[in-house]
Amino acid sequence: MATYAVVDKSECIACGSCGTSAPEIFEFDDEGLAEVIYSGDNNRGVTDIPENLREDLQEAVESCPTECIKVDDKAFA
Ligand code: SF4
Repeated sequence: MATYAVVDKSECIACGSCGTSAPEIFEFDDEGLAEVIYSGDNNRGVTDIPENLREDLQEAVESCPTECIKVDDKAFA
């Protein structure tokens, strides 16, 4: 099953936790807000996160204090 992820940046508080848990999936913009950057996704939520990174993704989701990392088995756009 495919897995897609996107950050709702309106809810992100720039805590940095997701980038620690999953540095290959998340980076931060100039304001410190997280974005999904895996494979050029550009926080669109259209890139399948491969199985070898899903544990990291799950850890990031669980570590996010505002629950603003959205994950689905369908692309977000
Ligand atoms: S863990 Fe959540 S609140 Fe913290 S930087 Fe990542 S997306 Fe933003």
